[in-house]
Amino acid sequence: MDKYKVLKKFFGYTSFHPGQEEMIDSLSNGRDVLAVMPTGAGKSLCYQIPAILSDGISLVISPLLSLMKDQVRSLNQAGVPAAYINSSLTEGQIRKALRLAGEGAYRIIYVAPERLVSPNFLSFALNADIRLIAVDEAHCVSQWGQDFRPSYLKIADFIGQFSHRPAVGAFTATATSTVRSDILKLLALKDPKVLVSGFDRPNLFFGVETPRSRDQWILQFLARHRDESGIIYCATRKNTDRLCDFLNAHGCPAARYHAGMSNEERVSSQDDFIFDRKKLITATNAFGMGIDKSNVRFVIHYNMPQSMENYYQEAGRAGRDGDPAECILLYSPQDLIIGRYMIEHRERNEELSDGEFEELRRRDLEKLRRMEKYCTCPGCLRQYILEYFGEKAKATCSGCSHCTLGYAAIDATREAQKAAAAAVELNERCGLKNMAKVLCGTIREEDKKSRFSFLHCWKALDGMEEADVCGLLEALIREDILSRTYRSGYPMIAPGPLAEEILSGKRSFMWRRPADKDSVRTVPVRAEGEGTWSEEDLMALLRGLRLSIAQEKGLPPHIVFSDSALSDMCRKLPLTEREFIDVSGVGFRKAEEYGGRFLQVIRSFCARFAIREIPEETNKGRQRKTYRQDQRLQFMLTPSEASAFVPSAEPCTMAHFAKALSDLKEPREVRKLFGVDVEAKLVSLDVLKKGKKDTGEYAVAGPRAQEFHLAVQEKLSAKGTAYQTVLLSPEAQIMILGLYTIPDDIN
Ligand code: ADP
Ligand code: MG
Repeated sequence: MDKYKVLKKFFGYTSFHPGQEEMIDSLSNGRDVLAVMPTGAGKSLCYQIPAILSDGISLVISPLLSLMKDQVRSLNQAGVPAAYINSSLTEGQIRKALRLAGEGAYRIIYVAPERLVSPNFLSFALNADIRLIAVDEAHCVSQWGQDFRPSYLKIADFIGQFSHRPAVGAFTATATSTVRSDILKLLALKDPKVLVSGFDRPNLFFGVETPRSRDQWILQFLARHRDESGIIYCATRKNTDRLCDFLNAHGCPAARYHAGMSNEERVSSQDDFIFDRKKLITATNAFGMGIDKSNVRFVIHYNMPQSMENYYQEAGRAGRDGDPAECILLYSPQDLIIGRYMIEHRERNEELSDGEFEELRRRDLEKLRRMEKYCTCPGCLRQYILEYFGEKAKATCSGCSHCTLGYAAIDATREAQKAAAAAVELNERCGLKNMAKVLCGTIREEDKKSRFSFLHCWKALDGMEEADVCGLLEALIREDILSRTYRSGYPMIAPGPLAEEILSGKRSFMWRRPADKDSVRTVPVRAEGEGTWSEEDLMALLRGLRLSIAQEKGLPPHIVFSDSALSDMCRKLPLTEREFIDVSGVGFRKAEEYGGRFLQVIRSFCARFAIREIPEETNKGRQRKTYRQDQRLQFMLTPSEASAFVPSAEPCTMAHFAKALSDLKEPREVRKLFGVDVEAKLVSLDVLKKGKKDTGEYAVAGPRAQEFHLAVQEKLSAKGTAYQTVLLSPEAQIMILGLYTIPDDIN
């Protein structure tokens, strides 16, 4: 079997994500690798596929029990024999697992790093045929990462004891160069193939909001995302509890998670969320590292996190399945006070010297400042994130609140002058909000008012909305016209380095401000009417079925099928077993086990709305008239067969083209190639790439589309979303024919 067959057979996918093949090939050839790939990029397959391809046993070192459990469950569901050995098992169970492992019962064994030094385990490992050791979450080896685990330092010793050293793969999503070089050094990787892939997560929408009431904002958001699973991160335990109670009281069942709860409470909360018994969870940053739940559709931050690293890691738990997901940060300048307070009152770590402790504190304050800049920056949020992590990025994207909102630039030099003068006059007596109140003259309490109302700057910006003035002040801070200073931990506004130039009229100020905040992203409204159907209706039915199967089996629903597999069912509407196996995310084992029940639902849905009929030629009892998928992937024409091809004069669909090629080869009544096969090939060559249409995935023009003369048509879906249809021009047909023709070397 080759890696493509393994990919489809066990995991149900037809093409690799960027970087996966390279890592798989290296490990399969016995070479070490270090892969730095963002969350959701598919790191697990990079070691699971070589493990399945190899004849021996593979070990995966993983830091968390819940991670191991989830992965082993997934593998078993996919038909791969795997097990874990960790402290959740009794001594007896461990002995039994090791005995079975020694007898070769498992292809892949997950272990916690602590286990590597146990004599029983060592004697098993050194006597077994171990070909591959994968270190997942490899950043845990570095003290500079967020999740340092001392027992990761023992891994190199462990590996050093093998007489035949297995290939070692290290996997992480943490990008910084210190962490990366720590991994190389401390795991003693040997001439590893290093892959650092792009950090962009195109399926994530990033947004920053500054609502008046965060609670109300969340209720409104949840009303628009009723059936979806999401995490709401809060800065403190108290807030986590309060928000959880608030949501439950408002008809949004939510679980909670923080370090102040007992171990049992945490496990049961986490399970409620993972098993979809509760769609929502409110949590502190203690929640998450072990969460492999793929169908998290949104991550809301109730408070600003401490750093961009934290934010991107937490937000990145959304949309691991590649389907669209939202990451929204609710920002209030108050968060900065909490953030600084937490850094300044942090417990002293015994192992650090005074100098180191001070250095760490400075570093964390700087990180907090960069985080705040994200919340207040006027430009593209995705660009900010990517540049923060050292990647070049385009100045705009189509997936963040700033780029989709639009900004208008206005000359606000006079307003800037008034604000700068106010900063001088107020002399660090006000924070941002109070300063805006002074400028608008909206301080209500009489005693405070009397302290300010005699100032020149009182009501200097009368007529502007207070929230607008806050936005203006933020912008002036970014431009160094104002600055923030701290008085007993509270941020106060002071004149910035460029205040003089503004006040003396040497400098003007263009203010980029949101064009129209209220017309933000409206939710697509579905056309209602008799006999109409939508993918969402079917999706709801399939989710329901998935949930009941999950309950019967005691599995988390996303392990039965991912959201993206369900979306693909809605798009492809498979009615037969053969069609079902073509769904992305459906491998042989799941097709066998669940195919019948899902097909039944889809068939009756299609019948009810007369969407499509069961194709005749594949009805039971008839002879099979189609190549299997693995045969189709190897479809090639001889030069003489290819010479009989006549391109269609009009641009045609991939399905049409595939049929024409298939018909060039005898016997004509057997179908040897489908549109999806051609599509997969073109995706692998970057001629097409995967795009999103409403809930489904489909192919759109890729970087090399022009070179291949593809014709692209813009269309509107039933829900009013624009999408592309790719057609093959006559020139394109000839070029692709070339890809399917065995080269004629003799001439
Ligand atoms: P990571 O460990 O990098 O965060 P995972 O290995 O957990 O990512 O994979 C994330 C999701 O992507 C999983 O649901 C996985 O099944 C899916 N996935 C991985 N590789 C592919 C692929 N080639 N095609 C489609 N989906 C994939
Ligand atoms: Mg992972």
